[in-house]
Amino acid sequence: MRDQLVNLLELQSSDGKVKELDAAAKQLPAKLDPLRRDLAKLQGMLDAERAKLAETESWRKSQQEQIDRERDALKNAQSKLQASKNSKEFNAASREVENKRKSISDRESELRKVSEATNAQTTQLSARDADVQKLRDELTSSEAAMADQVKALQDQLAEAKSARDAARAKVQPQWVKTYDSLAAKRGYAVAPVIKGVCQGCHMALPPQLNNILARMESIETCPRCGRLVYRKELLEPPQPAAEGSEPKPS
Ligand SMILES: [Zn+2]
Repeated sequence: MRDQLVNLLELQSSDGKVKELDAAAKQLPAKLDPLRRDLAKLQGMLDAERAKLAETESWRKSQQEQIDRERDALKNAQSKLQASKNSKEFNAASREVENKRKSISDRESELRKVSEATNAQTTQLSARDADVQKLRDELTSSEAAMADQVKALQDQLAEAKSARDAARAKVQPQWVKTYDSLAAKRGYAVAPVIKGVCQGCHMALPPQLNNILARMESIETCPRCGRLVYRKELLEPPQPAAEGSEPKPS
């Protein structure tokens, strides 16, 4: 029974290692999520600004076309002015010329203002474009570095899984079944007893049960949490944490 308990503990510690590595391998790529989110946000802002700029550009074009039409109208008005035969015609034509000139000049001055603003925005936009590109390069190189780390973790995981499978094969099938259902229900299946107290649920075991455990002739379960229990001082198992964190030479 001692062997079975030792094997069960080995299975538990190798299972823990597999879980730990599996979680680390899954979490690693998510570390770049904040950078990805930043990048998407900045890109979205840039796209919106660029769309606005395109809108302004099409407005500018339509204004320019309007100015061209007004220039034609101005020419017409100027010919009318030259052809005027009396002061009434002359006054009407010169008013029209004046109006057209004013309208053209107003529109042109507004266009100039808009063009200046647009130029400043375009300059700003290309500076931001460069920033975003920098961030994108950063993400790409981080992703490349991370791919190596993920690969290393996956190798370790594969190694841990085969160690786990080997440990599992050493445990008798009926205990594997118990182990699995306890691990699923309780997180882990085997708990040490220290000074008569189950370390899985912190309940003091009945003294009788503690005495039975001292004999190591059977595998017993904690009456409260149902975990498989053993007296820690009789097995002194290696600490899974200390054992698990040691780098393996490869
Ligand atoms: Zn317990």
